[in-house]
Amino acid sequence: MQNWNSKTRAVHAGAKRSQYGELSEAMFLTQGFVYDTAEQAQARFVELGPDEYIYARYGNPTVRMFEDRIAAIEGAEDAFATASGMAAVNGALMATLKAGDHVVSARALFGSCLYILEDILPRFGVEVTFVDGTDLEAWRAAYRPNTKLCFFEAISNPTLEVIDIAAVSAIAHENGALVVVDNVFATPVFQRSLELGADVVVYSATKHIDGQGRCLGGVVLGKRDFVRGPLETYLKHTGAAMSPFNAWVMLKGLETLELRCAAQAQSCEQLVAALQGHDGLERVIYPFAADHAQRDLARQQMSAGGTVISLVIKGGKEAAFRFLNALEIVTISNNLGDAKSLVTHPATTTHQRLSAEQLAMLNISDGLVRLSVGLEDTGDLVADILGALEAV
Ligand SMILES: *Cc1c(COP(=O)(O)O)cnc(C)c1O
Repeated sequence: MQNWNSKTRAVHAGAKRSQYGELSEAMFLTQGFVYDTAEQAQARFVELGPDEYIYARYGNPTVRMFEDRIAAIEGAEDAFATASGMAAVNGALMATLKAGDHVVSARALFGSCLYILEDILPRFGVEVTFVDGTDLEAWRAAYRPNTKLCFFEAISNPTLEVIDIAAVSAIAHENGALVVVDNVFATPVFQRSLELGADVVVYSATKHIDGQGRCLGGVVLGKRDFVRGPLETYLKHTGAAMSPFNAWVMLKGLETLELRCAAQAQSCEQLVAALQGHDGLERVIYPFAADHAQRDLARQQMSAGGTVISLVIKGGKEAAFRFLNALEIVTISNNLGDAKSLVTHPATTTHQRLSAEQLAMLNISDGLVRLSVGLEDTGDLVADILGALEAV
């Protein structure tokens, strides 16, 4: 496998066959495992060997196939799969931190990530400093002797700011902090955060990895010492395990991940070209667009601009709602990374909890809509979006 390209790994890595020689990976829908003898049971509880299992909260063969495959694609030593993306984020943080520690985090975060950092961690005596993730001086100034961890979304939701992973990781490492990156928007296909300097990468597998809106899932990737050490210990005892059924769906999702993401990103490029400069729009935001403030950085870090475009509609909330309601193919939903194109109005949904000041600081205006581009015909999508802008 060492010299296989990631496309080959996505189809074959991690696959293990049972004695029946099945072609498609088997779904081991079992909670527990049985032992031939009491001695064997005792030995497994002392130490699990490769391919040995005792209980599905600790591990399961189908879940393990998913973990091995995503680790091979990402170039990580190991991975632990979780019930959702938030279980992955929470696990990576809680397995690392204790009372008295300090965290530096980018402020532009997915709502539930913000909740963990802003509300939950302080309850357990962990202090968090939020910075503008694009400002390297702000990162540098935020470190303290007790800073243990640095957290950010490589591309922020929903304004698509790009964070310099190599530079931010170097600053964190100078200060002895662990770098945890939420890489959902960049996808495992377009960005290798570990190669760029991050220590731990987390995904919501619910998004592109499933990619067809069926299952929740998440995964944490990193060095084997961390993943099979403190991370696994925390996750297996707190019950965040991915179900074998979901792992099977995700495993099959990985086989087509690159094809889907490439097609979706290509549609994004064409949509950006078709929408740039439209009278009804204040802005078209896309990391690879010519007018994106961090376009050069995005092109250095990523092999494509991702599968999400944000639009600022002229006329505020009223116009944005009219736009959403006029779309015929693009569906109103807060999910992303799906085969179906989806649109959401962050200020009144995913980011509703934030104060007016926080929204302003994050540039989440009333006219901002987030568009997750799916697998439909690009021409049909362009026509649908132009038609809806016309209706506005
Ligand atoms: C969706 C998402 C999550 C949470 O994932 P779930 O699977 O919904 O728990 C975390 N971070 C980002 C950036 C996301 O988009």
